[in-house]
Amino acid sequence: MLEQETNPTISKSTGLPRKRFYRARAHSNPLNIGCGFGGLLISLSTLFPEVLMIGMELRDKVTEYVKERILALRVSNPGQYQNISVVRTNSMKYIPNYFEKGQLTKMFFLFPDPHFKEKNHRRRVISPHLLDEYAYVLGVGGIIYTITDVEELGDWMRSCLENHPMFEALTKEELEADPVVKLLSSATEEGQKVARNGGQTFQAVFRRIVPTS
Ligand code: SAM
Repeated sequence: MLEQETNPTISKSTGLPRKRFYRARAHSNPLNIGCGFGGLLISLSTLFPEVLMIGMELRDKVTEYVKERILALRVSNPGQYQNISVVRTNSMKYIPNYFEKGQLTKMFFLFPDPHFKEKNHRRRVISPHLLDEYAYVLGVGGIIYTITDVEELGDWMRSCLENHPMFEALTKEELEADPVVKLLSSATEEGQKVARNGGQTFQAVFRRIVPTS
């Protein structure tokens, strides 16, 4: 099952994974971009056992580690952790090759690389251009969760989301009612490191909406 999800067949013409390989079993799909060592996926797996979730990770060895981690959890917890998987890919290039319009319910961007220099801002995983793509693959009502310990990046992500016509911020009450929000700062390895060092975090959580005009 993991193989089927992580190794989509490759198109001979484009050299890219064929579209919709992940759709076959999918009803409701959260996606974790830059999932790192997989902490969030693993926490979400038992919180939402009926929901299929996938992580995208650029680094080969880290992806292999997450695969092995999931397989080991499946062995030691029979029947569990069948709903999560990971794929090694560059999410900034290939998201449209994996998902179709409105397929995703949640997208997570937890402690993404900050790319401090202005000339490198185009490498940030949240940008006005990429938000157009995320708005396409997220269903209406779907949610983007972001968190960082870099204030400037937090301001950047919030401002990109605020200025995009297809996203609106969740209210304080909605944030408090969402069990996933509590995991943002605690479930990932990077979040745990920040917490150990007593670092501040900056989160922005926005919903995909239909623009009014
Ligand atoms: N989200 C994890 C956490 O909170 O522990 C990892 C955070 S780490 C600072 C950022 C991760 O994003 C790295 O593992 C990096 O390899 C991955 N990454 C960076 N650019 C990416 C891209 N374009 N596509 C997929 N993963 C990417």
